[in-house]
Amino acid sequence: MNRQIIEKLTGIVGRDYLLTDRQQVSAYLYDQVEIPLRPKASEGCVVVKPASTEEVSAIVSLASQENIPVVVRGGGTGLCGAATPVYDSIIISMERMNHILEIDEKNMMAVMEAGVTLADLLEELEGHEGIGFPVHPGDEGAQMGGMVSTNAGGARAVRHGIMRNHIKGIKVVLADGSVLSLGGKLLKDNAGYNLMHLIIGSEGTLAIVTEVTLRIYPEEKYTASIVASFDTIEEASSAVLDVVKSGVSPLAVEYQDKKLNLETAELLGLHWPVKEGSADLIIILSEKTETALYDNCRAIDQICDRHHAREAMFAGTKQEEADVLAIRSGSYDVIKDDIYHSFDMAVPPSSMPEFLGELWRLVDSYDTRTNITAHIADGNVHNDILLVDGKVPDYHRELQEKMYQLCFSYHGTITGEHGIGKLRVGDLPLQKSPREMELMEQIKKVFDPKCILNPGTVLRSQREE
Ligand SMILES: Cc1cc2nc3c(=O)[nH]c(=O)nc-3n(C[C@H](O)[C@H](O)[C@H](O)COP(=O)(O)OP(=O)(O)OC[C@H]3O[C@@H](n4cnc5c(N)ncnc54)[C@H](O)[C@@H]3O)c2cc1C
Repeated sequence: MNRQIIEKLTGIVGRDYLLTDRQQVSAYLYDQVEIPLRPKASEGCVVVKPASTEEVSAIVSLASQENIPVVVRGGGTGLCGAATPVYDSIIISMERMNHILEIDEKNMMAVMEAGVTLADLLEELEGHEGIGFPVHPGDEGAQMGGMVSTNAGGARAVRHGIMRNHIKGIKVVLADGSVLSLGGKLLKDNAGYNLMHLIIGSEGTLAIVTEVTLRIYPEEKYTASIVASFDTIEEASSAVLDVVKSGVSPLAVEYQDKKLNLETAELLGLHWPVKEGSADLIIILSEKTETALYDNCRAIDQICDRHHAREAMFAGTKQEEADVLAIRSGSYDVIKDDIYHSFDMAVPPSSMPEFLGELWRLVDSYDTRTNITAHIADGNVHNDILLVDGKVPDYHRELQEKMYQLCFSYHGTITGEHGIGKLRVGDLPLQKSPREMELMEQIKKVFDPKCILNPGTVLRSQREE
């Protein structure tokens, strides 16, 4: 990046908040996507760390005048290469915009800068008795701006939905540097097209989010987890459909292969409470009263019985619950070095028993295996194609295509929550019609005619090269 631009950026954020040194910049180039799949980051990037919407606006105005790409970096926890700059870019790190501006207990809303992490928000809410925020993608280092821009989901979506359901307002900087406030503390607002919802989930390609207003909620006091084990994945997922239908509303229903649970427990030196069977469910309950908690535990136990559960254990103490959750969330560390490519497909929940069974058999036909973890009640599956002897298997494209075709045959999507990023740009047209792709491209052009905002993400880059 030329000297003049660097000087102008320094004038906006100050010398201490501009990084040009390769080594320092390298910490801002990649997210958590598997190393063999990472898009290659461009080497001529600089990092700026603005402290306000005004500074973001000044940076983007400059980028627009000079036709320089801008990539926002949130917590860098993304799983599809979206935050990786593939052109020489100005990387805007939101880390200094980390202030919670208001916890409004009357309207039950929280207003914060986009660089506030999920951990920061949860910590702040601990000081406001009985109030919480339910959306929880696995890594609390994710920032609010990142969670808005990826429309994050997570384990609690079965009861509480995804980010989109809780965002009431955003402040954004557009591609020409202008600032727009969308939404606010309104519970109802039907005025015109909803630009806020267009920007939610747009992965930094339509606007830069600098401020977020979220709904917050009263928290339930009584929690417990049930761990149930089945012989087959189909039995486990059929039981889940009945749990949801029964009117019990669990906080989360997670599936994980038993093999993975046992291996993770061993690695962490913890105890996995069910030994029989091969397909495990973790069902987390959170209720207002102790009676409701016990009634729902009993109802779930009966449903699991009807679906031939081999064992169902109640993790009642805080420690037992914490151990179960640590094993569920620690499993990725056990397998990550063996994974070539992780997937994030989703199908209608009622199709899960058949879909999971067929997925399992498809992978087996390649004489390999796949690790399956799932936000099973949402129909959202994370599985993988594994390296073979440390190498990318030659069948990987064919197997991926067959998995996608299977997913489409159940009217599913290639990504339930992680997004398209740069990883799945080529796959999006497999799912979307040419007309839908064309409309998305036109929308991108309206918001960002020079294609400076995170080019090459979601859609093929429309930059003139
Ligand atoms: C262990 C683990 C578990 C996970 N589990 C889940 C899960 O259950 N559900 C789920 O949905 N996700 C999950 N994720 C993925 C990830 O945490 C989410 O996608 C998260 O929302 C990303 O936020 P981030 O701040 O880290 O964004 P980043 O990775 O920094 O960026 C993601 C995208 O958002 C853009 N962006 C970031 N901030 C802004 C902003 N202020 N304005 C405009 N664009 C911006 C970036 O340019 C990029 O395109 C998991 C990740 C890990 C590592």
